[in-house]
Amino acid sequence: SPPPSEKTSYGGLKDEDRIFTNLYRQGDPFIKGAMARGDWYRTKDLVVKGSDWIVNEMKKSGLRGRGGAGFPSGLKWSFMPKVSDGRPSYLVVNADESEPGTCKDREIMRHDPHKLIEGCLIAGVGMRARAGYIYIRGEYYNERLALERALSEAYAKGFLGKNACGSGYDFDLNIAYGAGAYICGEETALIESLEGKQGKPRLKPPFPANVGLYGCPTTVTNVETVAVAPTILRRGPEWFASFGRKNNAGTKLFCISGHVNTPCTVEEELSIPLKELIERHAGGVRGGWDNLLAIIPGGSSVPCLPKRICDDVLMDFDALKEAQSGLGTAAVIVMDKSTDIIDAIARLSYFYKHESCGQCTPCREGAPWLYDIMTRMKKGDARLEEIDMLWEVTKQIEGHTICALGDAAAWPVQGLIRHFRPEMEERIGRFCEQIAA
Ligand code: NAD
Ligand code: SF4
Repeated sequence: SPPPSEKTSYGGLKDEDRIFTNLYRQGDPFIKGAMARGDWYRTKDLVVKGSDWIVNEMKKSGLRGRGGAGFPSGLKWSFMPKVSDGRPSYLVVNADESEPGTCKDREIMRHDPHKLIEGCLIAGVGMRARAGYIYIRGEYYNERLALERALSEAYAKGFLGKNACGSGYDFDLNIAYGAGAYICGEETALIESLEGKQGKPRLKPPFPANVGLYGCPTTVTNVETVAVAPTILRRGPEWFASFGRKNNAGTKLFCISGHVNTPCTVEEELSIPLKELIERHAGGVRGGWDNLLAIIPGGSSVPCLPKRICDDVLMDFDALKEAQSGLGTAAVIVMDKSTDIIDAIARLSYFYKHESCGQCTPCREGAPWLYDIMTRMKKGDARLEEIDMLWEVTKQIEGHTICALGDAAAWPVQGLIRHFRPEMEERIGRFCEQIAA
């Protein structure tokens, strides 16, 4: 690929530039297949280059966290202490993938578990951690079995444990299981859960890099972020940075669901136009692009976008932020004109009300309020002024809670009001007419 500064178009990733070559293929996910695909190839050479080299290469690659927040990965890994104060450092991999519409980490663990396990060793060395935990959601039973098998294969080959890969570095990896609570995907709730407590988020700061698992320096990082690290180091950060555009580098897994002809998870270049992503990989919108109503571009926590914005928006962190939405988990939920968009967003309000841990007032009280009002809005059983009141409730929640779940409850409703206010008004008007008649 040409350098990002000279690029004028994005997308159409070639097979040889895919990191996850076994997605939806029939290849062997386990050690033989993985090694044939290049995993564990001279991993020792990477490990012996040490922590500073790994972190610097990750910084140069421009990789931003693939769990949703998009925080620069190399920078985040560099927050871990260089000199121990006596406390051990931990790597924690967040495999509690629960964001509605999102199933990319599932595909990695199902079809390419060794990419994740090798990535754990690399990330662990980068963070100077001697132990790592993969926290996987309870519902991912088959993926957990795949991970367990891959983990024991890695130990049997001497890739993990004492003197991992013959590098002189000792690194142990464990798998822990969640039990289905969405909030346990929030990094500090996940840490609480790993410690055997209820999954309730902690106030940040202190960030986990200072006070994390068992009070020790910890980095919690997403499956995809960790799984791409070995390939970035082998092929070079410049190779990875040649995809996408400035500040939005690399390839990325996108999950495309809803009203498309062939829902899928696919690896593509960041910054690919949303329309091209759907037409190239998901067989287009059911009934054609003109039949599109709206798209949620990054999992249920980000606001939806109407067709006119979807026509030419790019799929990356900055472009979607500018469009008042977000890349989030890159889970693209497509809704055609048959969708009752008010009902769809009300359903999300139910989800967040249900999943709120109840610890802070704006979320505990506000999320059920949103759901109650949205339940009336979908019937039209409301007053016009209540649309403004609904907006105001979202503003009372947004930014006033311990964790991002509060924002996630507020933003889909804000997206609805921002783009579909006329539809809400029309629904209220129709309901009033029915009552009057
Ligand atoms: P965040 O912005 O608070 O943090 C992102 C990461 O950067 C964290 O690991 C945090 O510890 C670190 N960080 C940020 N500032 C730091 C600082 N000053 N010093 C040290 N470390 C710092 O976001 P978050 O709450 O971790 O994540 C929210 C996102 O999660 C949402 O945008 C949503 O898209 C996504 N999400 C994903 C799923 C999923 O299933 N993958 C589920 C729900 C939400
Ligand atoms: Fe719990 Fe919601 Fe507060 Fe997060 S925002 S800590 S989920 S009550």
